[in-house]
Amino acid sequence: MVRTIKEMKIMSFREKSFWLDEEYKPNESVASDQEVDVVIIGGGFTGLSAAYFLKKEDSTLKIALLEKEVIGYGASGRNGGFCMTLLAENAMDLIEFAGGLEAARLAHKYQRAAVDHVDFMVKNYELKCDYEKNGLMTMALNPAHIEKMKEYVKTYNSLGTEAVFLDQEELHKRFHTEAFYGACYDKHCAILNPAKLCREMKRVVEDLGVDVYEMTEVLGYEEGERIKIRTASGTVNAKAMVLGTNAYITQLDRRFREFGVPVFTYIVLTEPLTEEQYESIGWKGREGIETSLRMINYFRLTADNRIAMGGGDALYFYNDNLNHDQDAYAFQVAQRDLLQFFPQLKGIKITHQWGGPVFMNPDWIPTFGRTGKHNNILFSLGYSGHGVAGASYSGALIRNLYFEKKSEWDGLFFQKYRTKYRMERWMRSSLMRKVTYEAIKGFYIYQDRAASKSLTSRADRDYYRAQRFKKPKD
Ligand SMILES: Cc1cc2nc3c(=O)[nH]c(=O)nc-3n(C[C@H](O)[C@H](O)[C@H](O)COP(=O)(O)OP(=O)(O)OC[C@H]3O[C@@H](n4cnc5c(N)ncnc54)[C@H](O)[C@@H]3O)c2cc1C
Repeated sequence: MVRTIKEMKIMSFREKSFWLDEEYKPNESVASDQEVDVVIIGGGFTGLSAAYFLKKEDSTLKIALLEKEVIGYGASGRNGGFCMTLLAENAMDLIEFAGGLEAARLAHKYQRAAVDHVDFMVKNYELKCDYEKNGLMTMALNPAHIEKMKEYVKTYNSLGTEAVFLDQEELHKRFHTEAFYGACYDKHCAILNPAKLCREMKRVVEDLGVDVYEMTEVLGYEEGERIKIRTASGTVNAKAMVLGTNAYITQLDRRFREFGVPVFTYIVLTEPLTEEQYESIGWKGREGIETSLRMINYFRLTADNRIAMGGGDALYFYNDNLNHDQDAYAFQVAQRDLLQFFPQLKGIKITHQWGGPVFMNPDWIPTFGRTGKHNNILFSLGYSGHGVAGASYSGALIRNLYFEKKSEWDGLFFQKYRTKYRMERWMRSSLMRKVTYEAIKGFYIYQDRAASKSLTSRADRDYYRAQRFKKPKD
């Protein structure tokens, strides 16, 4: 059977993640030249959120959203589906990077509002995305992290949340594993199916009157009072442009290299657990779980009781190369970690494995703003691993910038944010990007290995010191 290019594209996006692998009919591409008020590039959470908030503010705005593949094709349709209140790697870092408690409290309030916004959207628009508000547990995986975890809970609460510390005894009641030594539990977080959320958001913005074009790659743009956006099938002229391309941004406009690097993170997914397997691990609260390691893991149950296990390692490829959806080494690390936490699942099949790009700077803090010769390019990017909530709400910031609307978020420290390490100049060189990334990662791995000294079980110690990042045999 001979397939059309369109059919082949439909096949290839379905292979990008378990979540995306469902029947889906994309919209048509842009077919002719167009004049609009706002053009949005990228059909992930950022682009969809911008479309939503702009149109809600002014229903007469003519908005075109251009997505090079299908809605949710990027990180938004491939992520872990954790909707989290956390900004930066932890609360202590957030206070440091924000430059003090007050600025960090506002940033936390924003991220909490982002989580609440997703909750509102799910309920108000009846978004069918397997949403479960079960909270998030951040697990200490060694005794050295228990005190850190208690301090973390205290600091986190000083930002205005209500996290609690759970000790090992409590965790033994909830999970049948020796791997967890203590946890920070934050009840405000949720898990969901991210591709379903994207597709449902497409429905919402289309109902509001936004024109969504899929399979429409933006090849470049020319700045001006009206920006000219080139695609293969037509030019779109707009008063303003929103860049919702996140990790893909440096391919479209290298100037954004100064904000961070695109990094790949990977997920493995098990077959659905049998009743016995599920009984054997506990986890009846179905919380999202993250570890307190620097090379963080995250794992969760899906609606049909598979375990999605992600993180472990994150890879940067020279010159911001984005062709690395599959990586045998990263998959093996994730799978080994899963069995380290739940050895009783030995033999369970991995049915899906995939990766996706996130845009990161060393602070894990996003950035948004307005730029360009005519000040009509708006952007929001760099959520690191925390964009499900952050990107879904970023449209509120884009709307405020576009309409020059005053709001409680005016003082957010990450407007046009540059990391305190002032990376902007040297972060543009490909070599420096690679060297810096590997150096930071090497330091994180060293810290995780150092903490593993406190483990009482020799097997666990060996795992974290020698096995975890061992390359797979060919
Ligand atoms: C494996 C993985 C796990 C993650 N887990 C979590 C998690 O559990 N919780 C969490 O909060 N965050 C998580 N994240 C991060 C989160 O997914 C991202 O921060 C968020 O999805 C970013 O959304 P976005 O819309 O800005 O970018 P994207 O979703 O990447 O969307 C960008 C879109 O732009 C399109 N595009 C790019 N170039 C062009 C062009 N030239 N023309 C037209 N369109 C273009 C792309 O096709 C893409 O659809 C994870 C990410 C990955 C990869």
